[in-house]
Amino acid sequence: MSKTQVDGDTLAIHGGAPVRSTYLPYGRPSVGEEDIEAVVKVLRSDWLTTGPTVREFEAAVAAYVGAEHGVAFSSGTAALHGAAFAAGLGLDDEAITTPLTFAATANCVLYMGARPVFGDISPDTMNLDPTQIEERITSRTKAILPVDYAGHPVDLDAILRLAEKNNLVVIEDAAHALGAEYRERKVGSQSHMTIFSFHPVKHLTTGEGGMVTTNNPDLARKLRSFRNHGIDLESEERQGQEEGDWYYEMRALGYNYRLTDIGSGLGLAQLDRLPENLTRRRELAGFYGTEFKSMPEIITQTQRPEALNSWHIYPIRLELDLLTTGRKDIFQALRAENIGVNVHYIPVHLHPYYQQRFGHRRGEYPVAENTYDRLITLPMFPGMSDQDAADVVRAVKRTVAHYRRGS
Ligand SMILES: *Cc1c(COP(=O)(O)O)cnc(C)c1O
Repeated sequence: MSKTQVDGDTLAIHGGAPVRSTYLPYGRPSVGEEDIEAVVKVLRSDWLTTGPTVREFEAAVAAYVGAEHGVAFSSGTAALHGAAFAAGLGLDDEAITTPLTFAATANCVLYMGARPVFGDISPDTMNLDPTQIEERITSRTKAILPVDYAGHPVDLDAILRLAEKNNLVVIEDAAHALGAEYRERKVGSQSHMTIFSFHPVKHLTTGEGGMVTTNNPDLARKLRSFRNHGIDLESEERQGQEEGDWYYEMRALGYNYRLTDIGSGLGLAQLDRLPENLTRRRELAGFYGTEFKSMPEIITQTQRPEALNSWHIYPIRLELDLLTTGRKDIFQALRAENIGVNVHYIPVHLHPYYQQRFGHRRGEYPVAENTYDRLITLPMFPGMSDQDAADVVRAVKRTVAHYRRGS
């Protein structure tokens, strides 16, 4: 900038005082004394790795979401890999997913030698559009892998109907959606398999960790075997019992994707606080929504009536026609105000690996690409104070006012 007056209205990026003096991150785990005590308790016990606390944590998460089984993994990505295995994805199979996600959602299909096929998103929720799924179903399609973007459940009725009609497995990536509800039932109880992530930025953390919930005992058994080298632990299935007590059988190629008791102790303590943390996230989203309602430059995620969002992140889209600049300047201006904005996500098909391997290019998924060009993630975590949220809104309003067209 050439000559800018430095006063109360000058953006920090142009030399003005920032809206706040300390940096507000977009997310922050909440770890309390109860969490520390829970981990110490496991450290004083006989089991550190996969033992009784993992089983307790699996049962607690399954009960919370209303599923029959929970199978813990060492990460959400490992859980996705397990689900892709249990779904039977193999060479030449296809799975339909969204481009607006973290690459791990599509990568798990590649791990199985199968091919991720992208469908475009709905512009209101930014979730995978069921009509796009339907158009892409072929004789090779084996699974649908929708993502509950930001914590807004996907259109499960439509997706499960398509799956039933075409004999497909639904693997719901609910890494954003622990505690979210679809038609008054928790996410995690309705798809064939639902995966959760317990990375520190998510709703609940085990350090690193993940889980698959399912109501299908066969899938649960495959998942348990896969995370433990493909070893079947169900003793009634062992053929060589007469061999002796040391005997076990590896029946499939699995991995070491086990979660630890240490992480599970933390997870159990975190689960106790999940309801109050969700309440706080919903309060913050309500505040943002009210504040941005009167701003035509800011488009918030549409909340469908059948959905109750768990708000892992708070994405906004800029109405670029009303602004004199693009997302990059506004993003940088907000960072200069000490607001830790982010962008979720670079569409998966635009990553160099996907472009080079599958020949994807810009223009293939216009809604996802147009969304990405205007997308900014605002801070959202339960430890945020009312003042923190007010600072975010003030910074957005100040920045938008500066770049408003015709002002
Ligand atoms: C976080 C995340 C994952 C991966 O989870 P990790 O636990 O980090 O492996 C997968 N999908 C989505 C949508 C995520 O946000």
